[in-house]
Amino acid sequence: MKLTILGCSGSYPGPGGAASGYLVEGDGTRIWLDAGSGTLANLQRHIGLDAVDAVVLSHEHPDHWADIEGFHIACKYFNKRSGVPVYAPAGLRDVTHDDTEPTFEWHAVTDHDSVEIGAMRLNFSRTDHGPETLAVRIDTRDRSFGYSADTGPRWSLEALGSSLDLVLCEASFLRHDEGSLQHLSARQAGTSAREARAGRLVLTHLWPTVDPAKIQAEGADAFGAPVELAAIDKEYSL
Ligand SMILES: [Zn+2]
Repeated sequence: MKLTILGCSGSYPGPGGAASGYLVEGDGTRIWLDAGSGTLANLQRHIGLDAVDAVVLSHEHPDHWADIEGFHIACKYFNKRSGVPVYAPAGLRDVTHDDTEPTFEWHAVTDHDSVEIGAMRLNFSRTDHGPETLAVRIDTRDRSFGYSADTGPRWSLEALGSSLDLVLCEASFLRHDEGSLQHLSARQAGTSAREARAGRLVLTHLWPTVDPAKIQAEGADAFGAPVELAAIDKEYSL
């Protein structure tokens, strides 16, 4: 399985950055996971838009889906695709600008749902965040990946189950901002990943205002091992 970072800025894109978005590939299946602003452009540096098998969106905050508007236009008028599967919590479909059917085929997913997309099995878990927000575990034949989406500290990566080879977890800010918003500090992300016994930890959803070196140090301290910081175009093989 391979994870590619398309965007990792928390809540809004920093200078030259992109909001949350990832490409997950494995056993011939390609999923675009979250589609924050800037990620559609970056996605095309890695695969053609007609190679996206499905889009999975964690929640209705626009830093996680805004670029599906442009993807819809590309699919409808340029790639002439229809029935592109989009998995998202109920309600997200209604906030898009255009009526995206039949170009997109929307599938509402919720807490504890399990779906199969090509060679991948996805299991969703509702996090501690404002609107319905779904973390996801993605399994291929022999590899497991976990993504926290956005969450506060009342949800833990343990909810995604054990034996995660790599976890991509939000770490919006540092310890001194804990409790200010329904997001995780790097310390809380590291603690959650350690308790879930994750093999590797990559921190993402990094606020553009926070020093990344401090995020990395605080996260590693809590995880008890080195952690990696997401950056656009970085690839991780699981
Ligand atoms: Zn967000």
